[in-house]
Amino acid sequence: KAQEALALSARTESMARGGGRMPVVMDRAFGVTIKDPDGNTFIDLSAGVGVSSVGRCHPKVVEAIHQQSGVLMHAMEVNSTKRTELAAKISEIMPEGLRGDCITFFAQSGSDALEAAVKFAKRVTGRHQIIAFHGGYHGVWNASNALTTGTAYRKGYGPFMGGVIHAPYPYAYRFPFDTTHKSAEQIAGEYVDYLLNTPYTAADDVAAVIVEPVQGEGGYVPPSPEFLQLLRKACDKSGALLIVDEVQAGAGRTGKMWAVEHSGVKPDMLTFGKGMGGDVPMAGLVMRSDLAAKIPDGSVPNTFAANSLSAAVALTNIGLLQDPELDLLNRAHQLGLEAQEYIRGFNNPYVGEVRGRGLMIGIELVEDKATKEPLSGEKLGKLMGYVLSHGVLMVPCGRYTNVMRVMPSLTIPRKLLFKALDVFGEGLRTL
Ligand code: PMP
Repeated sequence: KAQEALALSARTESMARGGGRMPVVMDRAFGVTIKDPDGNTFIDLSAGVGVSSVGRCHPKVVEAIHQQSGVLMHAMEVNSTKRTELAAKISEIMPEGLRGDCITFFAQSGSDALEAAVKFAKRVTGRHQIIAFHGGYHGVWNASNALTTGTAYRKGYGPFMGGVIHAPYPYAYRFPFDTTHKSAEQIAGEYVDYLLNTPYTAADDVAAVIVEPVQGEGGYVPPSPEFLQLLRKACDKSGALLIVDEVQAGAGRTGKMWAVEHSGVKPDMLTFGKGMGGDVPMAGLVMRSDLAAKIPDGSVPNTFAANSLSAAVALTNIGLLQDPELDLLNRAHQLGLEAQEYIRGFNNPYVGEVRGRGLMIGIELVEDKATKEPLSGEKLGKLMGYVLSHGVLMVPCGRYTNVMRVMPSLTIPRKLLFKALDVFGEGLRTL
């Protein structure tokens, strides 16, 4: 067994660098439990970075794959029954503004969906610039990387697509402006309004504002609803589109099917990925039908988009997310609140802030609560090592890689969730 594990880790060493690295080799997984080739088991609080909303290898998903794989898998350019069925289902579960009157462009990854969002926003508005946000993560190719901030993702790889303006995100804990009289959300919203509606900033050339309704990689930052409401108003005034990137926050994770629904705002386009496909790649861009009508047929082919196997899995995932007996969305909401309280109850000096929505929880770790100096890389490494060697898998995020995420599958048994949090709490006490 140990030999096998060694051989495996040697093989992972031969994979291209670039992706994040965790010192664990996954051999098999079921629900939220992962086994490595040595037979060690881990409780997974990462869900594969927000992917396995319904747990890994869910029996219904496995069954859907068995069934679909014997019938049809690839169908490029020819509409397939599963793709059509999925597009109809997506339209049904969209937030207001898109629901019942939208078109889905399928993609393979989140980055892919964001590339599409930029391309289509330009095509349907005839405008060229995009407003995105500091701390935002939207992908790592050209347009998607241009939207993404963060030195690690950018340094040495640019220049990316031009015409992107980055505005401040209302990250209240570390907001660079004075919030004595106005909230971070108000300031950030007004800033975008200023960019969009002041003539000398080429306001009439902004095609879209692209925003994560809860910022993910940037540190799990849930803004108050007012922020998206202000963006909506600013976009309406200027004619720019509002595009919500729900790749990480969507598919039920925040306790509603889409994170934008916490604000009541109607988006013009929405991108999805991760949790929609779960165990298989599935992503896409949904847009208002009247906008989609402006896109010429055959102008954006995409070979593997909405592979019938992925479509069958996505339909099964959605079915599980909507299953009234499982009640996963309310469960995410309730468990999320309880987990946040539980972590606050640690009263640990390194916990600067606990925040989140549903099962998208960020724990911002600091050296000192007063100065908010981010936890050192050394201490973070020690903490990660502790939790991993005690059977818990967690992944950090944030501008300073000092925010630990609690983002398990929405199906996580509560006992396992709190057991894993106890391990995290113990780990904190060793620092
Ligand atoms: N948008 C958001 C909000 C994301 O969190 C991610 C992935 N972390 C992406 C886009 C890119 O998705 P992918 O890794 O599937 O390309």
